[in-house]
Amino acid sequence: MNLRHLEMELERLEGFERPTSRLEQYRTPAPVAARLLHHAAMQGAIEGRRVLDPGCGTGVLACGAALLGASAVTGLDIDPAAVAVARRNADRLGLDIEFLVADVRDSSLEWDRFASDTVVMNPPFGAQKVHADRPFIDRALELAGEVYGIFNQGSAAFVAAYTEGRAVVEEVIRCEFPMRRTFAHHRRDRVDITVEVIHLRRI
Ligand code: SAH
Repeated sequence: MNLRHLEMELERLEGFERPTSRLEQYRTPAPVAARLLHHAAMQGAIEGRRVLDPGCGTGVLACGAALLGASAVTGLDIDPAAVAVARRNADRLGLDIEFLVADVRDSSLEWDRFASDTVVMNPPFGAQKVHADRPFIDRALELAGEVYGIFNQGSAAFVAAYTEGRAVVEEVIRCEFPMRRTFAHHRRDRVDITVEVIHLRRI
């Protein structure tokens, strides 16, 4: 499946019903999700691999990984309503994905069960809660050797410093992230923000 086709499939998916500002529930735009997944796929990190999407929201990244031939895909999110949307999205595309409600910070969970080859994720940017992305980075590196995450612009230096000794930043790809008006505090109907797709490899 080529990049354009993948983007079109992901474009059709259902978004958040009632997005929660506190949880930073911004839907990952299809072009950004497709770009990340296609890039990871070119590097052999998706097809035939076990892929995990922590903070899956509506399941865009998880669905895309399954469309690209991942051998097993799991998505998890703290919000049951988001998980319900993700399940509907996977069903609509006829994809077999395990979605569950879980908090990445929950240390009582048996995380070993979620050990994967690759993590794809769009964690909260930390706009509402500073450093909200840190537990995602920690969990991702605990569970997978290859991590592809979407962060806001200018995060690469922080991510490199934060993961020093645990991972190397393989590459940083900048993409435009067209954000539709989602919350009352958004003043304009659409803003384009630049995001960084960061590929981390565990060492
Ligand atoms: N890729 C998703 C968007 C993710 S937005 C999509 O396109 O729909 C970030 C997601 O992280 C939100 O769905 C939010 O509910 C979830 N989240 C926030 N804190 C979390 C936590 N501690 N554990 C698990 N999920 C969390």
